[in-house]
This record gives sequence, C-alpha cells and structure tokens, in this order.
Amino acid sequence: MKNRLFYQSRLARPELDRAEGIYLWAKDGKRYLDGSSGAMVSNIGHSNPAVLQAMREQMEKSTFGYRLHFQTEASERLANKTAALCPEELGRVFFVSGGSEAVESTLKLARQYALTRGEAQRYKVISRMPSYHGSTLGALAVTGYAPLAAPFSPMMREMPKIPAPRAYLDGLDPDDPATGKHYADMLEQTILDEGPQTVLAFIVEPVGGASTGALVPPAGYMQRIREICDDYGVLLIHDEVMSGGGRTGKFWGAEHWGTVPDLISISKGFGGGYVPLGAMIARDDIVEAVLDAGGFAHGHTYAGNPLACAAGLAVIDEIERQDLTGNAAAMGDKLKARLNALKNRFPFIGDVRGKGLLLAFELVSDRTTMQPLPKELGAFDRLVNIAYDKGLIIYSRRTRGGISGDHFLVCPPMIVTEPQIDEIMALLTEALDEFA
Ligand code: PLP
Repeated sequence: MKNRLFYQSRLARPELDRAEGIYLWAKDGKRYLDGSSGAMVSNIGHSNPAVLQAMREQMEKSTFGYRLHFQTEASERLANKTAALCPEELGRVFFVSGGSEAVESTLKLARQYALTRGEAQRYKVISRMPSYHGSTLGALAVTGYAPLAAPFSPMMREMPKIPAPRAYLDGLDPDDPATGKHYADMLEQTILDEGPQTVLAFIVEPVGGASTGALVPPAGYMQRIREICDDYGVLLIHDEVMSGGGRTGKFWGAEHWGTVPDLISISKGFGGGYVPLGAMIARDDIVEAVLDAGGFAHGHTYAGNPLACAAGLAVIDEIERQDLTGNAAAMGDKLKARLNALKNRFPFIGDVRGKGLLLAFELVSDRTTMQPLPKELGAFDRLVNIAYDKGLIIYSRRTRGGISGDHFLVCPPMIVTEPQIDEIMALLTEALDEFA
C-alpha cells in the first residue's frame, strides 16, 4: 500500500505500539529507552496516570470551546498556574499549540507594542548563530541555522545575528565574567550598527537546545544582555520552549541567573507529549498597551482548548507533586558526571555540557583544536542509528552552523532514576564502542 504520510525525509522507523515511563515499545515488541524524551518533550515520562485521568475527566465535560465564544476553567487555571511560576512582572499568558507558534506570538506582540509606543521603525529582532526558534517563517527568520532557512530566504526578511557564546570553541573560560561580557558586547555592537531605533527585540534560549547542544551561557552573560536591552529600549525574549518546564533543574532555564525577560515562549515539556500545547507569557503592561490600542492581531484556532489546558495543568501538578525539577537537577548532575567520565575512554568526545537533564556531548576529531569530525564520517546519523538499534534513543544535530561537527543530546524524562541512568550509560558506552 502506498504510504501517504510524509515528514522531512525518507527516514523509516518502526511503528510505535505503546509507551510507559521512560520506555517505548514498537509493534514488533522491541523496547526503546527514551534517552531524549522524544525531542525533549516527554519530560514527566509516558502514560502518567494522573495526566491521563485529568484528560479523561476533561473530555467528559468538553474538548473544545472556541476562545471567542467561551472562557474555560481549564485554560483559566493553567494561565493562573503558569503566571504564578513566572517572575512577578510577567503576568499574562497567551496559549498556542507549539513552540514555533509561541515564538511567532512573542515577535508579533513585541512589534505591536512598539507601534503603541509610536516606534514604528523598530522591527529588527536580533538572535544568535546558531540557534533554533522554530520552523514557521517568522520564527525561522530569527533561527540561526542556515540550512533550514536558506530555501526560504526570498520569502523572509533577513534578521541580524550575533554569535552564540560558544566559549568551549573559542578557548575562553566560561566561568570568567570577562567571557560573558565579551559575547554580550557583540549584542551592543550589533544594536549600534543596526541603529538602536530600529531594533525591536533580542531573542535567546537561556540554555541552548538542539542547535547549540545544551549551550550554557558564560558567567555574567544573561545579566549583561538584560542591561544592554534596557539601555536601548530593546525587548528581551527568552525562548524557553525547550529549557522551560523544569528540565534544567529550575522551572525556567533563566532562573539559574535570576534574569527577567519581557516575553517568554514555552512548549515541549509544557504539554509533556500528552497534547500539542505552548504559550507566550508577557509583561502585563505590554499586553495592556496592545489591548488598549485595539487588540492583538494574532491567534490560532486551537488556542487554549480545554483538553490541552487540562493536560498541561496536570503535567505541572505532576512536576510539583513528584518534585521532578529537583530530580532533574540531582539526576542531571549524576548523568553529566558519567558523560564527562566517557571522555577518558573516547578521545573523540570533545565537550560535555548542559544543566539539569538538558545535557549534550559533542564529538570532535581533535580535542585540543576542537576541530569537528570530518563530515564524510556521517557521525551525526551513524551514532544515533547504532544507539537506536541497541534500544537507546538519543537526539542529534549538526552544530557549527550546520557545516560540520556533531553533538548529541542525552535528555531522558525527568522521572529518570539512578538505575535507569546506569542503563543509559551502559547502552551509550556500547554504542560509542561500536562507533569508535
Ligand atoms: N524554540 C526552541 C528553543 C525549540 O527548541 C523549538 C523546537 O525544537 C522551537 C522553538 C520550535 O518548537 P516546535 O517544534 O514545537 O514548533
């Protein structure tokens, strides 16, 4: 029978039968350990009974109420809960169905806010290279990942990019505040070069996701970019689509540095793999100004649907009830130490980085120069496939702007236990032995 379904490539994978905890089973009975929580989504694990029960209860009441016709208890409760987890200034929540939509929403709200202030000339959104902010055209315009954007460049407005602070490649000490300042100064310089009156916002992943491989900002960086944004009236957007929701060992990635943005995007672990769900969280005064000026010219049909919101609320309840954020911090420390220890056995592991259970390792051909593996080796696909055959799922991306270099995210669900970390490490070591 002809396969009618398609995604981005011809990659064929087995059919999924069921999933529970940190494991998934294919139809042929083979078990896979979800070492990347899908794409860093299934943060509380699969088939959590409390979430399934909350969804059942909501389904019995209603599964959809169009937002222009009804408020729903589920969406109001999730908005209140989400706002309560945010810094005080960020009190307003706008629901969407995924990460790209959440980022698009931040860009559009920022732009409308500038218009309300009579700053129509502000439209440029500075972002970092590499970075990932989504695949829709607006989010793609600020995504620093050239191969994804190139085919669509005539359809998008080019936005300014600054280098992501990859101190490990530049031979700089990430713990030295001078390093943070060095990279943050690039933001200030770019604002000056572009003309401060034209710059609308700066968007940053507090802990990097797929494109930088769990990049942790150097000391002082997050604080300094906040100051620079304030100095030039530029809005600061934290894209917490991946880092939000507890995975880094704090509910928000940026909590590690105590910095407060003007707008936040979240998705992935917010719906936890139970429902498509995302949100933009915004400063109260920004929302008030835009609503006063006639309204926010943006919205998606499925926004705030009660089933998604009931599931999202149950996901946060489970994170709190089981202290999964605390477990992500504790298990993340153990897993990171074990990944670092692999460097002794495998000289081609160049760097191990990340926070909590948002962790990655990067393969290089030479650890002293940090030169990437030759592209022809195809390490990117090969290691993932070896691990997959052994029943371990890890997530990979080509780094270095998509030119060469390979990093692999090891991000199991936040419910992971120490014996399960042993299991991940045993499978990963076997896979690396075969890869070597
Ligand atoms: N922003 C970040 C930081 C992400 O990691 C992602 C997805 O990987 C997105 C945005 C886009 O999210 P989605 O794939 O749900 O559209």
